[in-house]
Amino acid sequence: MGTKRQRVAVVTGAGGFIGGHLVARLLSTGTRVRAVDIKPKSQWYQVHPTAENYAGSKEGDCRDFSVCRQVVNGAHEVYQLAADMGGMGFIENNKALCMLSVMTNTHMLLASQEARVRRFFFASSACVYNAERQKDPRVKALKESDAYPALPEDGYGWEKLFSERMCRHFREDFGLQTRVARFHNVYGPYGTWDGGREKAPAAVCRKVAAAKLSGVHSIEIWGDGKQTRSFMYIDDCVEGIMRIMRSDILEPVNLGSSELVSINQLVGIAESVAGVHLKRTYVLDAPRGVAGRNSNNEKILSYLGWEPLTRLADGMGKTYAWIEAQYVRKYRGRQRPTASTSAFDKGSHPIPGDGFNPESRKMTTWRQGIPAGYGKQHNQ
Ligand code: NAD
Repeated sequence: MGTKRQRVAVVTGAGGFIGGHLVARLLSTGTRVRAVDIKPKSQWYQVHPTAENYAGSKEGDCRDFSVCRQVVNGAHEVYQLAADMGGMGFIENNKALCMLSVMTNTHMLLASQEARVRRFFFASSACVYNAERQKDPRVKALKESDAYPALPEDGYGWEKLFSERMCRHFREDFGLQTRVARFHNVYGPYGTWDGGREKAPAAVCRKVAAAKLSGVHSIEIWGDGKQTRSFMYIDDCVEGIMRIMRSDILEPVNLGSSELVSINQLVGIAESVAGVHLKRTYVLDAPRGVAGRNSNNEKILSYLGWEPLTRLADGMGKTYAWIEAQYVRKYRGRQRPTASTSAFDKGSHPIPGDGFNPESRKMTTWRQGIPAGYGKQHNQ
């Protein structure tokens, strides 16, 4: 009697936030996992010693077709999560970098098709949705068809939308079984929390922790705080990836929470977790993204009878605790300077722990290339 062959799964972007959690989940199911990331292993959020880890530019850069071929060889399934990305501060300032992820997606698709991989998962984003449908903070939750006619987030969103379609055509023309989920703002421990690529929940936790620990009870909020979003806890994201990968959902599907909050409410939640009350100032020239965005979950519910349900207050409790501990470890003994000016003024200097992105010094460029009608303050 032959022994049953162990499933081999490839996770790209495994040194990142979602990838690290996904590797843990796959390992827990007895799957053999190849974890791949361009970052050196010392910079991975989670390193799982029982996975086969391909780290750094030589072994783990999935823009390189020969790397893709090597990591997918003999694999059953591929989870393509690698992308050069970050929160609004990053994607509005680094559009070319975001679009270059098309090389990673293309080469991973080609190599997977060549290796006859059974299933290919692509991590798309709510940034593919038409900006015209996201101008009101009292947004109507976005359903999958709202991506067309196309007017996605410039740079990052266009790349995701293009790669979604490439997944579809690889499935239709070449028979590669692709599955595509549009993630809506994922948050949780073991993710980016400073440096400029972090997203709103992590940035808010870091700012609240900084205020609490320094005793300077103030917080800067990007935009007017009235912009609305939904945020999905990481455990729900991983559960959704596993379910969608095994499903028959052939078209892109939302994977997000439908609990809509304003950024002001998000700050309120972080304040109550930390046990502080902060004076708020609003940085109106900072990147803020669309006015409102929520996930319509009718499609995922109809297919799977499941949707992400972790309450934001519960997820933020765990996330805040992790970020506060990271903050203490990194900035111990150094008090965070209070920022009286916007980090987006020309010539401003990095503020430790305040999310300034040194790669994005040309802050005025964030106004360029925004589609017409995107929002009054953007049409200058
Ligand atoms: P992350 O930045 O923490 O992880 C992405 C990882 O990809 C990083 O570790 C990075 O080093 C790696 N990477 C970048 N270029 C690479 C390359 N050429 N080869 C190999 N690795 C490379 O981001 P995340 O939050 O874990 O996001 C994972 C995926 O989910 C991304 O595709 C992202 O666009 C998508 N997504 C995330 C969110 C969210 O809220 N976090 C929302 C929508 C979509």
